[in-house]
Amino acid sequence: MTKTIMLANPRGFCAGVDRAIAIVERALALYGAPIYVRHEVVHNRFVVEKLREQGAVFIEDLQDVPHGATLIYSAHGVPLSVRQQAEALGLTVFDATCPLVTKVHVEVKRMHQAAMSIVMIGHKGHPEVEGTMGQVDSGMFLVETVADVATLQVPDPTALSYVSQTTLSVDETRDIITALKQRFPLITSPKKDDICYATQNRQDAVKALSDACDIVIVVGSPNSSNSNRLREVAALRGVDAYMVDNASLLQAAWFDGKQQVGVTAGASAPEVLVQAVIAQIKAFGADSVSELPGVEEHIIFALPPGLRDK
Ligand code: SF4
Repeated sequence: MTKTIMLANPRGFCAGVDRAIAIVERALALYGAPIYVRHEVVHNRFVVEKLREQGAVFIEDLQDVPHGATLIYSAHGVPLSVRQQAEALGLTVFDATCPLVTKVHVEVKRMHQAAMSIVMIGHKGHPEVEGTMGQVDSGMFLVETVADVATLQVPDPTALSYVSQTTLSVDETRDIITALKQRFPLITSPKKDDICYATQNRQDAVKALSDACDIVIVVGSPNSSNSNRLREVAALRGVDAYMVDNASLLQAAWFDGKQQVGVTAGASAPEVLVQAVIAQIKAFGADSVSELPGVEEHIIFALPPGLRDK
């Protein structure tokens, strides 16, 4: 039985991840090691280890950063309290928060200033959710599921709006928004969808991939929200779907009897890991690789002042 590999398009790095990694690398080149990074700059083990080898030091608590050192915020963003703490500690800060996350922060502050309560659709404990909810000191409510909407209590249903995490399932979020609008008919929407272009495009691509394949492999780390969503989206289309951090985690038995093997990667997973996965699946018997057509992405985010080429 022949076995072929089909690649999703687009897959892998988005503009926010490209920029966040470039910020750490550029800071290391300009200022030298160590450069402190609050939280994993992007949720990918390979990327984080590579930066660690170059002199990045990943910390969660700013108390672990020496006075006057250089600190970078991860792509997921930080609460205002962290910015205040960094200032008090005299740190030089470069902000790798994805501009599309910053856009949600701006939206939250605007709604809060308009005396509205804000519902955040997202996953409890995710750093992006903590960062976004930490833009204001009160008036934000987290919902994770449609069931949460049914029990949500807000001070004034006539002064209510919502935002969402950027890397959620597009379909699940639509269901939650529908439930919010049914329960709170006067709730206002953000000016523009918060789920980012990269999440949308990769989920669309994995749907097309799942329809053409009988197994889908997602390259991504366990803590990567958008990679997890890609695996779930594929599984919901009825194909076997697995997420692996690297090629060594692939199991030969998964591919027994499968003819079309789909491969994609989360927005924080580098292409070098995808190529290693392809090589391993070939070792399991696949003999050709093709790529599905897909949306072309041309978005590039500029580096912060101080790290740009002169
Ligand atoms: Fe930005 Fe979206 Fe990439 Fe997150 S997944 S870094 S929000 S572009």
